[in-house]
Amino acid sequence: MKAMVLRETASIEKEPLKMEDLPVPVPGNEEILVKVSVCGLCHTELDEIEGRLQPKLPMVLGHQVIGRVAGLGSGVKQFKLGDRVGIAWIHSACGKCDFCMGGNENLCPDFKGTGCDAHGGYAQYMVVREKYAYPIPERFSDSQAAPLLCAGAIGYRDLMLSGIKKGQTLGLFGFGASAHIVIQMAKYWGYEVFVFTRGEEHQNLARRLGASWVGGPDDQPSQKLHCAIDFTPVGETLPRALQLLEKGGRLVVAVIRKRNPIPPLDYSRHLWDEKEIKSVANITKKDAEDFLSLAAKIPIIPEVQEFELAEANQALLLLKQGKIQGSGVLRVMD
Ligand SMILES: [Zn+2]
Ligand SMILES: [Zn+2]
Repeated sequence: MKAMVLRETASIEKEPLKMEDLPVPVPGNEEILVKVSVCGLCHTELDEIEGRLQPKLPMVLGHQVIGRVAGLGSGVKQFKLGDRVGIAWIHSACGKCDFCMGGNENLCPDFKGTGCDAHGGYAQYMVVREKYAYPIPERFSDSQAAPLLCAGAIGYRDLMLSGIKKGQTLGLFGFGASAHIVIQMAKYWGYEVFVFTRGEEHQNLARRLGASWVGGPDDQPSQKLHCAIDFTPVGETLPRALQLLEKGGRLVVAVIRKRNPIPPLDYSRHLWDEKEIKSVANITKKDAEDFLSLAAKIPIIPEVQEFELAEANQALLLLKQGKIQGSGVLRVMD
């Protein structure tokens, strides 16, 4: 099979992903073989490629995978050949530790990430445990469904962790793949949304999706924020967002790794009055399942820009430059 493989970390400008021929993987016990149709692009792949998050190497990246079941390992019960499935960041967890038993398998010490610890979807085929594959609601095309699996599902987790309540204000810092899905959930549940983003096109998209206020990162919104989610890769957003929080407000930091350090926080300006900061690690099976059914109900239809699998390097460079509208998706050839 064809796959875009990462053998050595390097900046994306050096085009480190190479097209290679790999053997088609064989599904083991309770695993399915998936013939990949599309795979979404994510900032986490840039982190892996550029070494901020160390994947096992060599690695086939990609953790927003839509495809069809093309092979069944022994003991598979839930799926049959030809079923459409999605695969997200969670590739497996131990299922036995306290975190797994409490429904927080995202925190399992044995958590394995798709396209990081196990081969992902920048390829014609991949394997996954059937437990971590999800049926995809019919109303979505393959390309529309892919960004739901990370940008969407993790955005759902971000919003849940923000603890926001009806009638409150939500600030979104950065307005890319995840934020443009979060705003659709937030509007559905009746929260007022304030969007802080630089690019004119991102600002226009935020207005079109119902933001009450849109401005740059240094602009002053008309109201304090009860909750905020930081999607930006820069450290400066943290103190800025904390400053704009209402007393008792919570900031959720959705990005795994910042490109530059977080500036020192001033206790009285940034944290006093019971303000909180919460990080987000991975997603659970339940996040993916709950979000997929919510997305079909609202419905949330992501904006997507399509590329060929062979264009992965160029597409990821555009992602790095903030030049993709909504979510980028790689189409995998037959
Ligand atoms: Zn992701
Ligand atoms: Zn576990």
